[in-house]
Amino acid sequence: MKFDFLFIIKFIIFYFLLYEIVNAQNRYDLPQKVLQGDLIISQVIGYTDYAKVKIFKDKAPLKVSKNGYFVIPIDRDRKNNVLLEICKDQCESTEIIVLKRNFDIQEINGLPSKLVTPDEKVLERIIAENKIIKRSKKIMIDNEYFINSFVQPVEGIVTGVFGSQRILNGKAKSPHRGLDIANDEGTPVLSTNDGLVVLAEPDLYYTGGTIVIDHGYGVKSIYAHLATIAVKLNNTVKRNEVIGTVGSTGRSTGPHLHWGIMVFDTYIDPQLLLKKYN
Ligand SMILES: [Zn+2]
Repeated sequence: MKFDFLFIIKFIIFYFLLYEIVNAQNRYDLPQKVLQGDLIISQVIGYTDYAKVKIFKDKAPLKVSKNGYFVIPIDRDRKNNVLLEICKDQCESTEIIVLKRNFDIQEINGLPSKLVTPDEKVLERIIAENKIIKRSKKIMIDNEYFINSFVQPVEGIVTGVFGSQRILNGKAKSPHRGLDIANDEGTPVLSTNDGLVVLAEPDLYYTGGTIVIDHGYGVKSIYAHLATIAVKLNNTVKRNEVIGTVGSTGRSTGPHLHWGIMVFDTYIDPQLLLKKYN
């Protein structure tokens, strides 16, 4: 029996190239444009071993999950487009356009200037609490909870949106880094997704009853001004599980939930996150 080796080789090369072309077109599902405050959740596909896949965002390495998932938060003030490189053997690069938003900016002038001397005891307390908060922010678990859809932790009236800012007597205050949802004191607050509780503090100076939940690979949710806390540090929670109740603890003017989403060190807009699933 005689084999046409040349034919076989041609056949193999043809299918190898076809496979490469098909896969090259489907290696990731990325948006062409994103808004400031948005979160990109994507997955590299077409590889068998994701440990060898490297992703660079603006030339810096990005964490890739065991199944090829990665997240990119877009800062409220980001002006440049996102440069992404996905590498395994060879690199493919792509640019994502960042669209500017008009955030609600309130300028208030002519306020009586008052000298505030911080109470030494309060200052000590704030410094000690900041250490606890900082520690919780550093935790990053390797669970892919963030690939499931996120839910709104409580219904109610939105009294504060992401990105709004006040300029008092010409001095810009830090922008609002979450979503304020007002509801009656005692209304159950649900976990936005599955995760691990990395902070559960009943009485922080600024944020009162506070919970931070880690959803894996840098994605965390924050719940502040809670009246009660129903979870403990290191508890795992399920999406829609009751974690506490709405309150007005800490520096708050009325019962509401301050809900924030932090990805690595960047706060993103919870309302844009919810839109992905509606
Ligand atoms: Zn708030």
